[in-house]
Order: sequence, then C-alpha cells, then structure tokens
Amino acid sequence: MLNLVLFGPPGAGKGTQSEKIIEKYSLVHLSTGDLLRSQIKAGTELGLKAKTLMDQGVLVPDEVVIGMIDAKLQEHQDAPGFIFDGFPRTVKQAEALDELLKSHNEQISVMVALLVPDEELKKRLLIRGQTSGRPDDQNEEKIKTRIFEYNSKTTPVADYYRQQNKFVSIGGVGEIEEIFEAICGAVESN
Ligand code: ADP
Repeated sequence: MLNLVLFGPPGAGKGTQSEKIIEKYSLVHLSTGDLLRSQIKAGTELGLKAKTLMDQGVLVPDEVVIGMIDAKLQEHQDAPGFIFDGFPRTVKQAEALDELLKSHNEQISVMVALLVPDEELKKRLLIRGQTSGRPDDQNEEKIKTRIFEYNSKTTPVADYYRQQNKFVSIGGVGEIEEIFEAICGAVESN
C-alpha cells in the first residue's frame, strides 16, 4: 500500500498536486478540509461547529478530524493506498494516524512537503478567494491566522516524520508539471 502525506501551508498547491497523484497511483483522497466543508454543506451539528473555527482560520479540534479519518479508513479497507491532504496538522493527529494505520497493519510510506514562501502564499490565497467562494480565502487577516496556525502547530509534524526518516521536501514554486515530477520521484524512491 502507498500511504502518502502531502504536507504544506495553505495555498501550497496540495489540492492541485493531489489530483495528479491520485490519478497516477489510484489512491483514495482524504482531505480533512473537504470533509469538513461537506459537513458544513450538509448542515450537520459537526459542520456548524467547525464552520465558526474555519471561518476564523483556526484549527478544529483534533478529535473531530481524527474521527473523520478513522471512519474513512474503515470505509475504504480495500483501497490501494491513501493520500492524506491537510491531515495530520498537529503532532497529536500524526500520532493518532500512526495508531489507526497500525490497527489495519499499515503505515505511512512517505511525507512530501511543498515549500512555498509566506508572501507567495498570501498572494495565491487572495487570488483563489476571488473564485473559490471560500470565506477563509477572502480576507487577509484570516489568511494570516491560517499561516500562523500552520507555522506554530503544523510545522512540528514535519519533524515527527523526519524522525521516522519519511520526510521529503520539494519546492512548490514553479511549473505544476515539474513539481509533480519531483513528487513522483520522491514517492518512487521511497
Ligand atoms: P488550506 O490548506 O487551504 O488552508 P483546508 O481545506 O485544508 O485548507 O482547511 C481549511 C480549514 O479547515 C482549516 O483552516 C481548519 O480550520 C480546518 N481543518 C482542515 N483540516 C484540519 C485538520 N487536520 N485539523 C484541524 N483543522 C483542520
């Protein structure tokens, strides 16, 4: 099984690259951002609670996203592998993911981090906000909060995988196709 964590700040290009990776390796895409947005759309209690936090740009509680990932792993027991996008975002989530995968006799194969400077991220997110309709992409303050949350809570997740010798970083500025080739190289040399 190929279990890939795609890592990087908001606006790094995880969504774009995920689509290409999924197509090439037939993986199941698990994006906690997408899962949360579908809860909001469905108007569930969980969605209502998450929306307030997401609109501010802060993380939703670990238990919520871990529970969603657990359910998806159960649902796709026969998948050839998974791509985790936007998860794990805290060390607690990374530890929980290891435990969940272990209970299925599986593990993370590799974490690929996309590196993009903060200034470029802000630019990309504001442009995306003009078309995505995502409230968290439309306001500079919210974008700053998300980048701050990333730098404080999520960056330590890279060290978690570095300690397991599973961490690879790739420049996320440049041609989409070139970045994709670099990701494939990292996946296949692992
Ligand atoms: P982006 O990476 O572009 O910021 P996502 O779609 O991954 O966007 O996430 C949007 C929001 O959803 C986050 O700002 C956060 O509030 C919430 N969220 C998504 N995934 C997680 C997670 N693993 N843990 C906590 N909160 C999350």
